Amino acid sequence: MKKFIENLVYPRRCVFCSGFLDKNSNEDVCSECAEKLPWTKKKCKSKGEFFSECLSPLYYDGKAGEALRRFKFMRKTSYARCMGKLIADCVRENGKGDYDVIAWVPISARRMRKRGYCQAKLLAKEVSKALDIKCSRLLRKRRHTPPQSTLSGLAARKANISGAFSAVNKSGIAGSSVLLIDDVITTGATLSECTRMLLMAGARNVSCATLCKSVKK
Ligand SMILES: [Zn+2]
Repeated sequence: MKKFIENLVYPRRCVFCSGFLDKNSNEDVCSECAEKLPWTKKKCKSKGEFFSECLSPLYYDGKAGEALRRFKFMRKTSYARCMGKLIADCVRENGKGDYDVIAWVPISARRMRKRGYCQAKLLAKEVSKALDIKCSRLLRKRRHTPPQSTLSGLAARKANISGAFSAVNKSGIAGSSVLLIDDVITTGATLSECTRMLLMAGARNVSCATLCKSVKK
């Protein structure tokens, strides 16, 4: 009944094109987007300096990129459920499995004050629910850094982010296989730096997953 009324007041819409979704379906993506979004090929894994793999269901392009920007910059936090489920599906199908804990790439206190929410944390909470694996805060951003998107090249991005994160809750990290969540992977510099901190704090292994993967230019 609650779901029926919710649907009456707020008809469900596809987060990628805003088209109405079939009220009887459990799908979160409309049939057209299911077909036409820039899905990555199965087992599309990015490699990083420290993490063992990074899985991403979509390329950061077209309607996927637009939706991710609305989620991140225009307060469309309700997208987290659909986007988190897409990440979880990709991890379930292509990941190595055996994760003990889910964590996320945190934002700085300054960005938190400005944005009001941490997009990667919202995604991690949904991935946690979908995969039934606990979610814990394992990292902290120690200092504010200019957005990686304003810098080009791996060297500049690595320098920008070096030492920007630290591990918290070390007892929750030691010996664990961590699944680390972020919204997008470009060069992998941020995920590598976070992975480095988790490994130094005693993580057994770190795998990553993001909603989008940047298209190579
Ligand atoms: Zn759609």
